[in-house]
Amino acid sequence: MAITTTNPATGEIEKTFEALSDAEVDEHIARAAATAVEYRRTTFEERAGWMNAAAGALEAACDEIARVMTTEMGKTIVAARAEVMKCAKGCRFYAEHAASMLADEPADAAAVGATRAYVRYEPLGPVLAVMPWNFPLWQVIRFAAPALMAGNVGLLKHASNVPQTALLIEDTFRRAGFPDGAFQTLLIGASSVERILRDPRVRAATLTGSTPAGRSIGSIAGEEIKPVVLELGGSDPFVVMPSADLEKAAHTAVTARVQNNGQSCIAAKRFIVHVDVADAFEELFVARMKALRVGDPMDEKTDIGPLANEQGLLDVENYMADALAHGARVLCGGQRIDRAGWFYPPTVVTDLTPDMRMYHEEVFGPVAQLFRVRDADDAIEVANATVFGLGSNVWSRDAEEQALFVRALDAGAVFVNGMTTSYPELPFGGVKESGFGRELSAQGIRAFCNVKTVWIG
Ligand code: NAP
Repeated sequence: MAITTTNPATGEIEKTFEALSDAEVDEHIARAAATAVEYRRTTFEERAGWMNAAAGALEAACDEIARVMTTEMGKTIVAARAEVMKCAKGCRFYAEHAASMLADEPADAAAVGATRAYVRYEPLGPVLAVMPWNFPLWQVIRFAAPALMAGNVGLLKHASNVPQTALLIEDTFRRAGFPDGAFQTLLIGASSVERILRDPRVRAATLTGSTPAGRSIGSIAGEEIKPVVLELGGSDPFVVMPSADLEKAAHTAVTARVQNNGQSCIAAKRFIVHVDVADAFEELFVARMKALRVGDPMDEKTDIGPLANEQGLLDVENYMADALAHGARVLCGGQRIDRAGWFYPPTVVTDLTPDMRMYHEEVFGPVAQLFRVRDADDAIEVANATVFGLGSNVWSRDAEEQALFVRALDAGAVFVNGMTTSYPELPFGGVKESGFGRELSAQGIRAFCNVKTVWIG
């Protein structure tokens, strides 16, 4: 894929970049490896100083960075600014907590015949991060803030459609004071990833992206015996039971589906509603979806901008055509918007059956699937009927029912009476084909550490 900024609101190419040659990539890896030797000896206090400076730089340049993101991948400017501020918070969180999260952990020395025994968390070295365009700043920061605070160095291969954002991130860390080589952006295509991953100087990898990319990176990392974190796709269920606050559930359901123009891994994609409240929920939900303003993502009043690229629009159209051919019914939307750029309207579709592709796969656009279920068991069966297991949502005011869903939903997270989101304080990740490993919280920072056992006789 060419490395370009192509504005999804117009379809026009705004800037094209030359990919690095293999020799240039090797220079970057050499710099990362050399920096890693010195950088791991820096103290938590030094790293925290640089990380807090990066947070300050993000806040100071919030509008400028947000505009670049909106231009490159089409999220609304309001959402882009919120993403920048969330990243600043994420940097500060790890600046504050890394030292305690990675403090030595004493063990029972007498039980293991030692005078002293403990666990140390040590950095691994250069870590390759392959990242997607949909949250072009947050996906990178949620890897980089913990990884750098743990004493690792980062090599970023960002998605080919967000090169300016990728370069801004490198620039932000450098200006914040991190040593040259502690965080480098590599402008390269996906085909260059394998060579880097097989390089012995690169000690670990993380990918946020699609399941096919995860399969490829996971299998190469397996061959090379390198730790890898995979954050892949999702088709999160959003279950609504009769005891739910329906107004609130419908209001949240809209945000949960259309956030980021419908292109979020943890967007609720399948709305699974108890038959007793299905008519009422459908009415509230469809009315709110219809009321959303689709348009120029730079306009402060826009709710939904374009899809990030033309292929994304074609994929959504194909999923819809397949579902309609198999008997699905459209309750709103359902046709691309006739204007320049890659716009698809908020859409609700129902009468879904397992012979439709969207029943099992991930639709990356503002299309909500609405299911009617008989009871909690039926809801759980439909909710778990995909290959994914990233987030999940359940709306119920019945404590026993909440506990049932918390146990039964096969996912990396369950949000009760709310929508799935990510917080630096909580682990983030999936099961099944949504991936493995966890980001964020103490789990996320330890993902790229050598958990070293120390036994002293
Ligand atoms: P994608 O095609 O997998 O791309 C993601 C990144 O992987 C890009 O940098 C891409 O580079 C690279 N890539 C693609 N194929 C590769 C391969 N075979 N080997 C090495 N690198 C490869 O994903 P996308 O379609 O842009 O992003 C949307 C997907 O990401 C959705 O499935 C979404 O659910 C998932 N996602 C998951 C999370 C999570 O936390 N679980 C968060 C956000 C998004 P190029 O751009 O150069 O192709």
